[in-house]
Amino acid sequence: MPKKARVNDDAAGAWGSVTAAAASTGMLGAAFEANFQSIARQGQGLATPVLESLLKFSAEGGDMPEFGPGGLDVAIAALYEHDEQFIGAMRGIVTHEKDIVKAVEWWTKAAEKGNVLAQVRLANWYCANHDYLKFEHFVALAALNTPIGDKQYDAKITDALENHTSNITTKREGLKVIRDMYGLNMGDDVVEAFAAPMTCAPPHAAVNLTHHIAKCFMNGIYGIKKNLQISKDYLKLSAKLKGTKKYVEADLERLRGCAKCGGTGAWACALCKVTRYCSKECQEWHWFNGDEPHRDHCPRAETPSKYAELKKITAFDLQITSFA
Ligand SMILES: [Zn+2]
Ligand SMILES: [Zn+2]
Repeated sequence: MPKKARVNDDAAGAWGSVTAAAASTGMLGAAFEANFQSIARQGQGLATPVLESLLKFSAEGGDMPEFGPGGLDVAIAALYEHDEQFIGAMRGIVTHEKDIVKAVEWWTKAAEKGNVLAQVRLANWYCANHDYLKFEHFVALAALNTPIGDKQYDAKITDALENHTSNITTKREGLKVIRDMYGLNMGDDVVEAFAAPMTCAPPHAAVNLTHHIAKCFMNGIYGIKKNLQISKDYLKLSAKLKGTKKYVEADLERLRGCAKCGGTGAWACALCKVTRYCSKECQEWHWFNGDEPHRDHCPRAETPSKYAELKKITAFDLQITSFA
């Protein structure tokens, strides 16, 4: 029975070896399932109880936790989802970085195998990330797979639906904060279009709502006028959230690159100080040419950075953090 497993890139392999060893010694059983489900229902998420079960199993042996259908996927998702505080307790058993995108991959595997709690987790995740089609898909799946009369699963689904409502409020209020802070000329219709449930998938992938907002301003969608300064501020804000930094960094890098050729963005536009260029040639070309000539799209001094102010809005930030 191995007491240590390393979960790095190949979490499946690591857990495969643990379960194979457990199975070979006859320890993989369903006995842990009832216990797991009772503790999982107490927490907001699944990660803590799953990791606690694994920690207990690792330290004391006994029955290998099974976690219901798609159980090992749930366990691996929990390992990727949890923050450093718990990782400290797990030190010596697993080593890995929090990685919310990988966690979502493993929740998805569990959900596909019929794990209701993973389905609810994903409903909440997609709701927070603006993808209402997937939100509805996973809520419907969870409802379909919940045993009739199971009050605790029903309560989780109700919570997910309430999250959906509060998420719309969060987005509406969040965009109004941006509008006021940056002094944007933005109509209420744009705010409502942004906050309202979408009837199609979002046009860009994001790992949390701040990241999503950053991309909306980067790409200029939902009637929001493209604004790279706001995009940059929100990318920086999003990068502060645990487990998401590396995904946000890629977008920040893109903003830091030359807007014409993608090369090293050594110089910034003298007016807006946001759009970058590798050379005078690229800057001159971009001023007059391309799909969006910069002379027409430069935010100029109209939108100075508000990042210092923005990062103090902890309530808005925290509401998002709780999903990410
Ligand atoms: Zn260039
Ligand atoms: Zn400019």
